[in-house]
Amino acid sequence: MSKGKKLFSGLLSLSFSAMLLISGCGASSSEPKCAELLDTSARDISVSVSRIDDLPADFIMGADVSSYLSISESGAVYYDFEGNKLDMDGFFGLLKQSGIDLVRFRVWNDPYDEKGRGYGGGNCDTKTAVQMGKSATAAGLQVMIDFHYSDFWADPGKQMTPKAWLAMSDDEKVAALESFTADSLTELKNAGVNVTIVSIGNETDNGMSGEKGWTEKCNLYNAGSRAVRTVFPEAMVAVHFSNPEHDYVTYARHLSDCNVDYDIFGTSYYPYWHGTLENLTAVMSEIAEMTGKRVMVLETSWAYTLEDGDGSGNTVSHESNSSDPFYSFSVQGQADEIASVTRAIADVGDAALGCLYWEPAWIPVRYYDPKGSDSDRILEANRKSWEKYGSGWASSYASVYDPEDAGVYYGGSAVDNQALFDFAGYPLDSLRTFRYMREGHEAEGLTLSQVIMPAAVSIEIGEDIREYLPMTVRGELNNKQRLTFNVEWDEAELAQLTAVGEYTVHCTITDEIPGSDGTPRRVMLKVNVLPHNLLTNGDFEKGDNTGWDISDPLAGVTEDDPYRGNYALHFWSEGKVEFEASQTVTADKNGEMVFSMRAQGGDLGDGHVVRLEVINNSTGQTYEGNVTLTGWQSWKETGYYADPDVAAFTVSAGDTVTVSIFVSGAAGGWGTIDDVFLAYKE
Ligand code: CA
Repeated sequence: MSKGKKLFSGLLSLSFSAMLLISGCGASSSEPKCAELLDTSARDISVSVSRIDDLPADFIMGADVSSYLSISESGAVYYDFEGNKLDMDGFFGLLKQSGIDLVRFRVWNDPYDEKGRGYGGGNCDTKTAVQMGKSATAAGLQVMIDFHYSDFWADPGKQMTPKAWLAMSDDEKVAALESFTADSLTELKNAGVNVTIVSIGNETDNGMSGEKGWTEKCNLYNAGSRAVRTVFPEAMVAVHFSNPEHDYVTYARHLSDCNVDYDIFGTSYYPYWHGTLENLTAVMSEIAEMTGKRVMVLETSWAYTLEDGDGSGNTVSHESNSSDPFYSFSVQGQADEIASVTRAIADVGDAALGCLYWEPAWIPVRYYDPKGSDSDRILEANRKSWEKYGSGWASSYASVYDPEDAGVYYGGSAVDNQALFDFAGYPLDSLRTFRYMREGHEAEGLTLSQVIMPAAVSIEIGEDIREYLPMTVRGELNNKQRLTFNVEWDEAELAQLTAVGEYTVHCTITDEIPGSDGTPRRVMLKVNVLPHNLLTNGDFEKGDNTGWDISDPLAGVTEDDPYRGNYALHFWSEGKVEFEASQTVTADKNGEMVFSMRAQGGDLGDGHVVRLEVINNSTGQTYEGNVTLTGWQSWKETGYYADPDVAAFTVSAGDTVTVSIFVSGAAGGWGTIDDVFLAYKE
C-alpha cells in the first residue's frame, strides 16, 4: 500500500452520504467524553461471518503486522479478548488463535540516516523481522518476508534505490540484491524463523530498486529468487503487484519471457482503488491458468470507523470517504470486507493460496482526542514517539532519503482506523474473521453497529438548518438488520449556527434500540454555514464549467477531490501546469464584498503559484491571496473566510468585480479548487 497520501490523488471523492459510527455517551456528556465512548464501543461489537466452503486445504489466512514492534516499543499495549495485557509472544498467540496462519514482515535494506535515526514506518529491517519472526514462529505461525529492496516504502509511486546501491552498475546491483537477500534470510534461518514465503519486491508494477525496465527488473527478481532457493529451498517465492486493474497478463508474459523463477503471483486489493471483486477473481483466474502459478491477495484492509486515533490524518476519513461505501465503516464492515475479498480470491479455485490483511495492529501510540483537555500534550508525545521509535508512517529523518514525500508529510499512522484492534489496543471481533471464515459465526447479542447519516449538510447563511436536518436516521444492527429511528436535535447547538463557518451538531435517538441498555445514543453531523455566493457556480456543484472562463482544458469541473459537495475545479497536467479561471459579477447594490477560495494538491514544484485575485474594475481595488499546496486533502484557504482581517471591498451598485484563479506550477502537478466565494459582508 502507498503510505504518502498524495498517491491517492484523484481516486477518492467526498460526498454527502457517509456512514458514521455512533457514540454511546449520555446526552448530557461533554464532547470529549463522546469521543472516548465512540472509541471504546467498537470492542463490544460481535460480527456475523458466513463459512467459506471449499477453501483449498493449504489456503493461508494472513496479516502483515510489520509495525507491531515499533508501536509496542513506543509504549502502546495490546490486549486479548479477556482484557489481559499481551507481551509479544501473547500478541502472536492471539493472532494464531484468531485464525491467522501467517504473518508478513517488510524488510528495508537500511531505513536509517547517517546518524542512525530511523525513517519510521516501523524502521523495518532484517533485525526487526528476526525479533518478531522468532515470536511468531514460537506461536506456530508461518512467516512471510516482504523485501522492498529499498531503504523505505516501495510502491507503484516510488521504487527508490537503496543508498548503498546508488553508484552501482546494473550487474553490481543484481549481485548486491542477491547477497543482501541471502544474508537477510540466513539471519532469519539462523534465528529459527519459520519463513515459508518470500516476496521479491513490493508492488513492483512500475519498477524495483530504481530500475524501470522489465529486463532489469527480471534480473533483479531472479537474483532474489536464487537467494531464496539457496537459503530456504522449501519456501515459496512471490512476486507482488499493486492493482488487478493493471495489465497483469502483460506482466505475467514479461516474467515468463525472462524466465523469472517464482511460485506465487500476488496482488494488493483495496476496495477503494482496485476495481471490483469480480474483476479480482477474473484476473487472478486468468493469471493462474496462464502461468500455472499460485495466486494470492497480499494486502487488503477496511476501516471500522472514519475517526482518526492518533492526530495524524488517515487515508480513509470523514473527508475522503466514498459516496458509495463498499462495506459499512464498522467492525462488521471489516468482517464483511475480509470475508468478501477472501471469497473472491478463493473463487479462483485450487490455485488460490491465501489472503493477507495489511497492518491490523498499526494502532495509535496514544489515543488522541482533538477535543480532549490534554490533546496538545498527547499529540506532542505521539510525535516524539514517531520520531524516536519510528512508529508513524515516516519520521522527519526520512527527508534525507525521500525529501518530496516523507520529508514533507511525515507523521503517524494513516491506517489506525483500519486496524483490527481499537485505538486503545483491544482486539475487535473482526480480528476473529479469519477463524470465523473456516467455521462460520453468528453475532452474539444485538448491538447498533452504525447509523447512516449524511457526512455534512450545507446551508446558506440566514437559512433555517431545521429544514435540512433529518428527523429519522437509519441504523444497522450487527445482525445486519436495518431499522429507522426517530431523533431529536440539540436545539442549543442549532441556535449557534448564526455565522459563516463549520459546526458540529448532534441528535439523540429517541426510539428504543434493540439490545441497548437504555443509554441515550447521540449521533454527530457536520454543518457548513455558507455565505450567499454572488458567483455563478462558485462551488462548482453544477457539475460543469458553467459561469467560469477557463483558459486551458488541463483544468475543469470534475468529481475528483472536492472540499465540499460532489464537484470541484480539478487540474492536472503531464506538462507544465498553467491556467486561469475567471468570472465577472456586477454589484446590484452598495455595500461591502468579501471573497474566499480553498485549494489542495501537490507536485507543483518549488515556487508554484495558486492565487485568488479579485479586482473591483470600477475602483481599481485589488486583492491577491496565495496558497502553497502541500499534498492530497491538505486544504488551504485564502481570503476573508480564512482571515477576517482581509479588507472587504467597498462596492457601489453597477461596479463590476472580476474574480480570477491563477495556477502555475511544474509538470505533473495536480490539485483542486473549491468553495470560491464572492459575497456581501453580512
Ligand atoms: Ca491516524
